[in-house]
Amino acid sequence: MKTIGLIGGMSWESTAEYYRIMNEAVKERLGGYHSAEIIMYSVEFAEIHRFQFAGQWDKVADILKDIARKLENAGADLLIIATNTMHRLAPEIEKVISIPLIHIADATAEKIRERGFKKVGLLGTKFTMEMDFYTGRLREKHGIEVIVPGEKDREFVNDVIYNELVYGIFRDESRDGFRKIIDGLVRRGAQGIILGCTEIPLLIKQKDVSVPIFDTTTIHAMAAVDYALQD
Ligand code: GLU
Repeated sequence: MKTIGLIGGMSWESTAEYYRIMNEAVKERLGGYHSAEIIMYSVEFAEIHRFQFAGQWDKVADILKDIARKLENAGADLLIIATNTMHRLAPEIEKVISIPLIHIADATAEKIRERGFKKVGLLGTKFTMEMDFYTGRLREKHGIEVIVPGEKDREFVNDVIYNELVYGIFRDESRDGFRKIIDGLVRRGAQGIILGCTEIPLLIKQKDVSVPIFDTTTIHAMAAVDYALQD
């Protein structure tokens, strides 16, 4: 089994899910006492968050590149970054390591293509919904059209993520708000909905949504396990 290098803590609420999902998957596939081999570096999120919102992405990049190198030196055979948003820096991080980085958008695209979907809705942080690193990659590399909510709704989703979900707060009012926004995307033709922030699957489940959801936390964690268990 290969050793999974995990950059986590963004937030730890979702990283805990990655840890659980990867161990459960290995146990399910191999049985008995088997569990995943993982080296995790969990960041101090306050620092990362401050730089993100100040637009100081170069500072965040330096921190994450340093961690990626540490994980490789510690013996990781592959790397995952347990947040959609921080994949903005994936190309830079990839350059400083020689182990493969399993990209969350690529893993998600594979699941969308398996369904044969051409157009999906995306919920995530404003960075993920508004910058090109995520929607652009899905469009250009995978031929998937991605639609996002309007500006006010993007603000709402972003606020719920950073003021509630990363603190482990899950409110019915917020879930209802997400459901209305998702309904709007479905009316605009979304065949499925990407839960493109690793905390959203803690709030929104398949039963809340009329079309298939793509839970990026589970999809990404499972892609890492698939890779780790390949011969
Ligand atoms: N976990 C979140 C994501 O998947 C947001 C936290 C962050 O990295 O800013 O995008």
